[in-house]
Amino acid sequence: MTDIDENALFNITLGLYVVGSYEKKTGREVGCIADAVMQVSANPMRIAVSLESNIYTTKCVKEVGELSLSVLPKNTSAELISEFGFKSSENTDKWNIAPFYKDGKLPLLKDCIAVITCKAVDEIDIGDHIIFVCEIKKAKMVKGCEPLTYAEYRKSMRKASSKEGLGKRWVCTVCCYEYDGDIPFEELPDDWKCPCCQMGKEYFQLQ
Ligand code: FE
Repeated sequence: MTDIDENALFNITLGLYVVGSYEKKTGREVGCIADAVMQVSANPMRIAVSLESNIYTTKCVKEVGELSLSVLPKNTSAELISEFGFKSSENTDKWNIAPFYKDGKLPLLKDCIAVITCKAVDEIDIGDHIIFVCEIKKAKMVKGCEPLTYAEYRKSMRKASSKEGLGKRWVCTVCCYEYDGDIPFEELPDDWKCPCCQMGKEYFQLQ
């Protein structure tokens, strides 16, 4: 029995953003998804961006000291989130999945709500994540529509099961995708992978 109910934490409101940066040596664009982004001061105008410590994009941000944010809209495709969120920029050119442009060397999505470019002025190692404190260089509205929240993303990945009465559902613990195929989950081959994040069957839980 634990004192920490993760569902309580899922009620902290978070958005979903594509973080962009580039390789110092080659200039090749890299990127990932971040949910933990917030404005932390107004004067000077600074935001905090928390990224997983051991991913390739974080390594590049540490090296080049700058990053971009593209604020994702409600209708963002699962493919885009899967590409940026569950692959590594070390061996994938993720930016090919959607139209983008560059401000200096920083890549930005053309189709998003707003774009922000920043300089990382401080970094705080907090365990499995690093918080980059960033000074805003430019911020621009692209189109006015509702931003995607992390909670909505989780909900949309949990499609209503077509088989009524079964109750329990197999849910990917990495990306929240809910299995709704015709073959019973238990009978899927051992090398079956989550269609959204590509993780194996062992990452699914009956919920
Ligand atoms: Fe998944």
